[in-house]
Amino acid sequence: PLFSLDELPLENSYTSLPASFYTRLQPTPLSRPYMVCGSASAAALIGLDPAEFARQEFIDAVSGNRIPAQSQPLAAVYSGHQFGVWAGQLGDGRAILLGDIDAPGAAAPGKLELQLKGAGMTPYSRMGDGRAVLRSSIREFLCSEAMAALGVPSSRALCVTGSDQRVMRETPETAAVATRMAPSFVRFGSFEHWFYQGREDELKLLADYVIGRFYPELKDQPQPYKALLAEVTRRTAEMIAWWQAVGFMHGVMNTDNMSILGLTLDYGPFGFMEAFDPRHICNHTDQQGRYAYSMQPQIGDWNCHALGQALLPLIGDVDEAKDALAVYRPAFAGKMDALLHAKLGLATTQDEDGKLFDDMFGIMAASHVDFTLFFRRLGDLRIAEPGSEEAVRDLFIDRAAFDQWAVQYRARLLQENSNDMQRRLAMHQANPKYVLRNYLAQQAIEKAQIKDFSEVQKLLAVLEHPYDEQPENEQYAALPPDWASELEVSCSS
Ligand code: AMP
Ligand code: MG
Ligand code: MG
Repeated sequence: PLFSLDELPLENSYTSLPASFYTRLQPTPLSRPYMVCGSASAAALIGLDPAEFARQEFIDAVSGNRIPAQSQPLAAVYSGHQFGVWAGQLGDGRAILLGDIDAPGAAAPGKLELQLKGAGMTPYSRMGDGRAVLRSSIREFLCSEAMAALGVPSSRALCVTGSDQRVMRETPETAAVATRMAPSFVRFGSFEHWFYQGREDELKLLADYVIGRFYPELKDQPQPYKALLAEVTRRTAEMIAWWQAVGFMHGVMNTDNMSILGLTLDYGPFGFMEAFDPRHICNHTDQQGRYAYSMQPQIGDWNCHALGQALLPLIGDVDEAKDALAVYRPAFAGKMDALLHAKLGLATTQDEDGKLFDDMFGIMAASHVDFTLFFRRLGDLRIAEPGSEEAVRDLFIDRAAFDQWAVQYRARLLQENSNDMQRRLAMHQANPKYVLRNYLAQQAIEKAQIKDFSEVQKLLAVLEHPYDEQPENEQYAALPPDWASELEVSCSS
């Protein structure tokens, strides 16, 4: 059975925490909102009728113009480290939580919180206007859904609504609201917030809330807070291994953007790797490259240490905290190794595989090959058929380097008696054909800015099946056009 938003039982578990954790408030209405795009698969998670996307009552509710039945909207407070520096209090400056809802359609049983991003000012808006622009809302919407379809742990996006209401950024733009869904939007910075104020009671309340609701199995551990740190660290490490494997760059890995559930959160100036360069910086605002592709794994570790610091009063002993944080490296390495083996179609693990991977990334970087196309096309290689690798080889400037590596790769495949047909199928399940390239997002955005939302819908449909061959959509797997190199994404959103 499918329901309208008002029929779904909306609760707000976050209000079980003391009032110091949030501010209750109403969203600011958005002028004459219209639906830009909805995600039917996200709707299915909560049993929402996708026909709602076309109903004005729904559009009004997800634009902040009408409070759905039983909702007690609020903005949460948090703090965080931004670009490695303690930033003090931040908080939901433009995101408003409507409440949580049963998610019978989700893989794991539980609830999903519904949050409106761009729904107006809150006490935590600081210098901001509480709004989000159409461009960044479409990017967050598409990427959330694309990442989920890739299998990467992520928050979801239910829909985006737009308005002709003006918002000033570098140039005048228009306002939009993205409705996000996640079991929780609690961040590492939510814990840092209380730690840096020396408020251990609140720190403990938050940890108990998170454990009770999202990690109930940890309650019975001898040291639940240490176990929490270890589990969040493990999930974070695995999430970042996923990022590396699909070539995703978050762009703003500040501790206020790190989910306590190990979900990719707060899509801003993110990017997918195209011409491979491990030092690539996707966020134009990140001049130093703190969050460059190759930095992500160690920044994830750094962020877990910031969480560990904040949890220290509860864990009670530095060595215990270090113990929990030591989970990071093996968890990252283990997941990365598994994902890379799958990407190369390797069913077994051999001692020299590390060298095979390193050499591969080396030649990819030297020839700036397209990350997504490389892995996808590599699946076409047949062990005993010279020339079967022509399409992947064509991506290389230095073809001799590829040929050399291919000798190594073929030998490795022979060693485990790899079957060409089976491997190709398996590699297609591990190497997406369709990712959210910046230029694709840009094309959809430019049409949406003149109120043609068809390309957002089309792109969503393509990205919902990233591993499938979609013969009618070949153009969405193409190399970026020349103009794409001029595209810049920054923290402006
Ligand atoms: P971000 O770098 O996007 O994660 O944002 C950092 C902080 O700035 C968060 O607390 C956001 O809520 C806040 N913020 C970003 N943009 C705005 C805006 N336009 N209005 C109010 N707060 C904002
Ligand atoms: Mg943020
Ligand atoms: Mg943001």
